[in-house]
Amino acid sequence: MSKRDYYEVLGVSRDTSEREIKKAYKRLAMKFHPDRNPGDKTAEANFKEIKEAYEILTDADKKAAYDQFGHAGVDPNRGGGGYGGGQGDFGDIFGDVFGDIFGGGRRGGQRQAARGSDLRYNLELSLEEAVKGLTKELRIPTLATCDLCEGSGAKKGTSATTCGTCHGQGQVQMRQGFFAVQQPCPTCHGRGKIIKDPCTKCHGDGRVEKSKTLSVKIPAGVDTGDRIRLAGEGEAGEFGAPPGDLYVQVSVREHAIFVRDGNNLYCEVPISFSKAALGGEIEVPTLDGKVSLKIPAETQTGRMFRLRGKGVKSVRSHAVGDLLCKVVMETPVNLNDRQKELLREFEATLTGESKKHSPKAEGFFDGVKKFFQDLNS
Ligand SMILES: [Zn+2]
Ligand SMILES: [Zn+2]
Repeated sequence: MSKRDYYEVLGVSRDTSEREIKKAYKRLAMKFHPDRNPGDKTAEANFKEIKEAYEILTDADKKAAYDQFGHAGVDPNRGGGGYGGGQGDFGDIFGDVFGDIFGGGRRGGQRQAARGSDLRYNLELSLEEAVKGLTKELRIPTLATCDLCEGSGAKKGTSATTCGTCHGQGQVQMRQGFFAVQQPCPTCHGRGKIIKDPCTKCHGDGRVEKSKTLSVKIPAGVDTGDRIRLAGEGEAGEFGAPPGDLYVQVSVREHAIFVRDGNNLYCEVPISFSKAALGGEIEVPTLDGKVSLKIPAETQTGRMFRLRGKGVKSVRSHAVGDLLCKVVMETPVNLNDRQKELLREFEATLTGESKKHSPKAEGFFDGVKKFFQDLNS
């Protein structure tokens, strides 16, 4: 069955206002609502059609998709962000639209006791802690199930009784104008149960404020942005409903030496001018302590050395990252006369042969020369 145009269904023009769409919907909904046409299948089909048109055309995103792509833009069967709303049940929207006309409530089943809220705990770790993993004691302020009444909210030795007004349904039917409207029971507020003697500890709520201490195992390799979910460790639910979850949100503090990038670690290691020239061994830091690194002769400043497997072990796979050490040559300072003299002597030996000993300078000065030649030509 091909669908009719939504604007046509509601009998409005394409450039009409949302107010006009609502007005048209209310008028048609009154005419076709199943409560006014009991057993009339055509009226029910009409009602569903106008309800769907109304839902699409009063939702800015869906309306835009419909205006551009037609039914294909909002077809729930096509997926990809299409309209996923319900066919068939007309209870929910009915309450939304007619609530303001008649002052009535939403239709629907008995109110369910709410699941507890999820909690978030921000955990700051040092890089060492994040890399090696640890067990952390977390103190979490939360709502816990009242131990005195075990979450029922009723005083010890008593129990909640079924509400006499709604007979445990949580809903009552009221007649308003043409309609029979379901409303939450005013006596028990939709719960279906009455607590005559509230618990002395939680005053009938079934939950108490409590801070709990949790021992949480943080796996090795976690990084900033990782989140650890502890199912059921959030806030207690209402009246014994399931608790929420606790999310431990990890952030890792900046480290004095290492910068982490995924599973790799970076650091800068200073070396002296003479060691860079002659080669030798230097000590480099790793998270497991110092290791020695061989530096070849004629090492230029900024050269990167890779120490395989000295990075971070991934929390998701067994892959281990590397440690990347960048050597930075230091100009010697606080030289005494003797040292200065030696350097002058050394410098004098380079005279006339500077190209041979300075691979970068050669390229640099050639470049400068070419630059000025190009400028003059
Ligand atoms: Zn209690
Ligand atoms: Zn009731």
